[in-house]
Formats: sequence, C-alpha cells, structure tokens
Amino acid sequence: MNIKDIFKQKKPVISFEIFPPRKDSSINTIYKTIDNLAYLKPDYISVTYGASGNKNKNKTTEIASIVKNKYNIEALAHLTCLTSSKDEINKILQQLKNNNIENLLALRGDLPEEPDFKISDSNPFNYAVDLIKHIKETEDFCIGGACYPEGHTECNSIESDLYNLKNKVNSGTDFLISQLFFDNKFFYDFKSKVDTLDINVPLQAGIMPVINKKQIERIVSLCGTSIPKKFITIMNKYENNTEALKDAGIAYATDQIIDLLSNGIDGIHIYTMNNPDVARKIVSNISSVVNALNTDIAI
Ligand code: FAD
Repeated sequence: MNIKDIFKQKKPVISFEIFPPRKDSSINTIYKTIDNLAYLKPDYISVTYGASGNKNKNKTTEIASIVKNKYNIEALAHLTCLTSSKDEINKILQQLKNNNIENLLALRGDLPEEPDFKISDSNPFNYAVDLIKHIKETEDFCIGGACYPEGHTECNSIESDLYNLKNKVNSGTDFLISQLFFDNKFFYDFKSKVDTLDINVPLQAGIMPVINKKQIERIVSLCGTSIPKKFITIMNKYENNTEALKDAGIAYATDQIIDLLSNGIDGIHIYTMNNPDVARKIVSNISSVVNALNTDIAI
C-alpha cells in the first residue's frame, strides 16, 4: 500500500526507522529487531540507506523486502543520490520494484568528504529534487522527502530552505518526515511556515529517544539540532547510570510525542536505533493516547 494512502485513512500514522546491520554483523541480527518491532504493529517501517557512515547500502532493498514480504508491514526504502549515476539509481529502482516495494524516501545524502567534490551541472543529481523528478519520469513510487524544523545544516536561511522544500514537494513528494528535534517549539514554528506556504502534504515528526550521552554528542555534530536546557540537565544528571538515563530518555521522548499528538500532527516517525525495547516502551506509554485519537478516516 502507498504510504500516502495510509495517511488518508488514519491519523496519527506511527512508523519506525531501522538501519541495516554494519558490514561486520550478520543480516540475521536485523530479523530479531524486525520481529520485535512488527509485534508493535507500526503503520510502516523505514530502512536507511548508507546513513551515518554505514556503507552497507545494498542491504536496504533486502531488509525492506523482508519487512514487506515476510512481515506484511508496509516498507519505506531510503535512497540517496548525490554520488550515484542514473544507471545505478535505475538499477536500485528496478530491484525495489522487483521486491514489491512501493514507497521510497528520496534523499540527497550528505556532502561527501572528498575535498574535490562539487555541486555541479555535470552531476546527474545535486539535490533530492533531482532524484524525485527522475523517479517520476521512470517509475511509479510513492515518494517521501526529508525536512528540517531547525533548517538544514547547509541552508543560509530557513526561508531559502522552505523555498527548496516547496519545490521538492511540487516536484512529486507525497509526504514529509522531519529531522529529529528535542524542542517541539521548532516543529510548531516550522509547521506554521509550511502551512503558510501551502505545502499541503502530510508531515510526520521524527523523534529520537536518546538513551546514552554519546548518542547526543553525535547527533549535535551531525545535524546541528538544538538541545534544550531541560534535556541537558537530564543527560548530565544520569550520564553514569545506564538504566536511569534510559528511563529518562524514554520519558522525554514520550512527553514530546504526547504533546505533538495532542496538537493534531499527522504522525510520528520513531528513530528506533534498532532498539525494539525502547520502541516498545514508548508505544506502550502512548498507546491509550493513540487509541483515543485514532479515528480511521473513511475513504
Ligand atoms: P535536499 O532536499 O536536496 O536539501 C539539501 C540542502 O540543499 C538543503 O540545505 C536545501 O535547502 C538545499 N537545496 C535543495 N534544493 C536546492 C536547489 N535546487 N538549489 C540550491 N539548494 C538546494 N542520509 C543518508 O545518507 N541515508 C539515509 O537513509 C538518510 N535518511 C534520512 C531520513 C530523514 C527523515 C532525514 C531528515 C534525513 C536523512 N538522511 C539520510 C540525511 C540526509 O541525507 C541529509 O540531511 C542530507 O544532507 C540532505 O538530504 P535531503 O534529501 O534533505 O536534501
């Protein structure tokens, strides 16, 4: 099923993100993760593509296929384009089609570290919008896109980032998933700007439960997300107590999600970090809220 149709049928949409095991781990480790996540009945599961330095890109299709064809859960395969040729992209699109995958998160990917790399007219893909236009010309997929409540790290202003986002949506993006954030105020400000610009596709909030301090340092260095004082206080207080930090991180994410759901957002995308135990606790914490809101929308 197309994810855009799931958004037409229910609110809120709750989904999980997983990543392929690193090259030195067996693919079997992901089975256990999916097994435990499937039990929580998410609306879909997304599978990253080479994110955070993970070079195991060719496992994305395989894992998305397991989600879709073995577990009968809708799968969203991430795909980045910046350093790929059109032939490479076409090959992946074909593999996804052959595996019955209908949904793609079309991404640019981070700038490569090679100093010689340049955004240039000779590249087949410079931005996610180029990939989206290419997919629209080539294959029939439901296409998701990324968005950034605090602005993308490379953007000069939130206004130019929003202008590019509108262009990305007008080119065929069916729904958006946000970068993680720890202060809901950024999401609400962003949402009101998105509404003002008539960017009329479902917008899911990306939430990452943080359960160790290293994770937070990495997040800030990668995506420049602001860390509220309340959050720093919690991290500092429990940094040497694994269990307390885990409980506090789960409680913080739960609090964010309940606030967002109460304010009527379209859905929540949980960055699970392949940790089903954390996802399970959050789903349990929010289940009565989700049930109270979850009106199946008549088609
Ligand atoms: P774009 O939408 O192309 O935007 C990138 C930057 O370029 C922005 O600053 C934008 O304002 C600007 N821009 C866009 N169009 C133009 C234009 N025409 N002219 C000038 N400037 C323009 N990375 C991975 O490697 N693998 C993953 O699986 C992955 N999953 C992700 C999932 C989510 C939900 C999110 C939020 C991010 C994910 N990322 C992933 C990270 C993502 O690849 C990076 O954030 C990347 O730097 C930007 O990708 P994008 O698709 O948002 O790019």
